[in-house]
Amino acid sequence: MKRPFGQHFLFDPNILKKIIACGGVTREDTVVEIGPGLGTLTKFLSFYAKKIIAIEIDKRLIEKLEGILSSSSNVEIIQADAMKFPYDTIEGNFKVVANIPYYITTPLLFRLLEFKEKITDMTLLMQKEVAKRIAASHGSKDYGVLSISAQFHTRPELKFMVSRKAFVPPPEVDSAVVHFNVSPFPLYPVSDEKLFFDIVRTAFGQRRKIISNSLKKFEGIGNALADSGIDPGLRPEKLSVGDFVRLANTLK
Ligand code: SAM
Repeated sequence: MKRPFGQHFLFDPNILKKIIACGGVTREDTVVEIGPGLGTLTKFLSFYAKKIIAIEIDKRLIEKLEGILSSSSNVEIIQADAMKFPYDTIEGNFKVVANIPYYITTPLLFRLLEFKEKITDMTLLMQKEVAKRIAASHGSKDYGVLSISAQFHTRPELKFMVSRKAFVPPPEVDSAVVHFNVSPFPLYPVSDEKLFFDIVRTAFGQRRKIISNSLKKFEGIGNALADSGIDPGLRPEKLSVGDFVRLANTLK
């Protein structure tokens, strides 16, 4: 059978409850779930949250979902593409809890962060490799542009791993749950965000090179590195987010 939309379903109640516990979901919360699938996580969420808005792209699943969730009066099922959904139309703040479709993990994360003023936190089940990159600290081989971009507006924490065997059908890789505390404003005092990300992307574009070489295109980089107290002989993965921020602010 053809499986579009990254459909790998979870049925294990212990894993589903653990995901919800990571999100700290209470009766006060509105929760947005991306990709309810066959409604297993949705059903559990309906026991813990005030309201669940479940956004599913696959028209063929909608009717099934409506049947499965017919007794859950606090669930609203919406047939829509989560990449295009206007999250600002949701009343008040909300949490996101989801076993997300892996083919759009990174773009979906950044789409959701466009609405960071409305989102208090997110608990997302995703591929383990991506989870490790998102949560990585400097000095780790997983640390890079994705870690810094995610950590600029959120505090991501890798919570627990989920074996590929827990899914039906099993995907080709293992998964992990990441909890993100979301901040409406940048967590770092950057004076020029565009320059900051230009420096970060350029440095990691050539991650084997030392930063004084890879960042050559930025005029005055030698002095900026010296003034920020950063060793020009370092490779980019050795610089913390704070180091990149200091460098960008000094260069500016
Ligand atoms: N929540 C279910 C579970 O845990 O068993 C299903 C998770 S499955 C990994 C991903 C779900 O996201 C599928 O139901 C799929 O149809 C849906 N999906 C894929 N792309 C989507 C999109 N762009 N917008 C909304 N839902 C999407």
